[in-house]
Amino acid sequence: MPLTGQVALVTGSGRGIGRAIALALAEAGADLVINDVDQASGEATVADLEALGRQAIFQAADVVDEAQVEAMIEAVVAHFGRLDILVNNAGLTRDGLLVRMTEEQWDLVLDVNLKGAFNCTKAAARPMMKARAGRIINIASIAGITGNPGQANYSASKGGLIALTKTSALELARRGINCNAVAPGFIETAMTEQLSEEVRAGWLERIPLGRGGTPEEVAAAVVFLAGRASAYMTGQVLVVDGGMVM
Ligand code: NAD
Repeated sequence: MPLTGQVALVTGSGRGIGRAIALALAEAGADLVINDVDQASGEATVADLEALGRQAIFQAADVVDEAQVEAMIEAVVAHFGRLDILVNNAGLTRDGLLVRMTEEQWDLVLDVNLKGAFNCTKAAARPMMKARAGRIINIASIAGITGNPGQANYSASKGGLIALTKTSALELARRGINCNAVAPGFIETAMTEQLSEEVRAGWLERIPLGRGGTPEEVAAAVVFLAGRASAYMTGQVLVVDGGMVM
């Protein structure tokens, strides 16, 4: 298996896309660190991974909190002795029109989606730089490329994440660390379940492949960016959106 012997940390992997990424990396042979603020779902993902025959541990850190993130990375290195792959997936939405958006809505989304990825990248870079190897994969969004009405905070956070991906790639390339992003389109998860039928129908109309994507289809792109087949790619954004923004 291509990722046998490697250790991957996926933030926000208790459910949704993060959970699917963790399972796909495990199927490719990796051992996993499951991170989520929701302990019950994180522990359920760990049990699923153990059933696949992989080692997995749960870490409850809030990615917004630098001290908790540093403690998490230290715990990972203490337990596994290495960290090969970081997937910055934890994210959330607090939608609203720009003129009505509150400071709290803006700050929370920027904190989790952008500062969270910065905190994890900074802490994970240390063991990766020491090993002179590593893969960092950021889960952005097409909203970070095109913008999206009602998502000033979310699209700014994901656009920022794409810029962070490129800067991380430039700073870490000489240390053997590749940094790339995946930008999903409309994916069927709890995040998109919240949308009204009207908004859903509007999205589906704009997708050339005629359907929403699955978490597994995003996970497949992450497995590619974690493996040897993408060794010569860094600073790139892989769009997984059924053709929506080509
Ligand atoms: P989700 O809400 O189903 O899962 C997100 C997970 O992150 C949850 O388990 C949550 O508890 C966890 N989380 C939230 N805040 C956290 C924090 N501070 N620290 C640690 N964990 C935290 O969402 P999803 O649809 O699976 O989305 C996953 C990622 O994919 C997000 O970054 C999202 O922006 C991105 N994305 C999703 C879609 C989509 O259509 N669903 C499209 C594009 C991008």
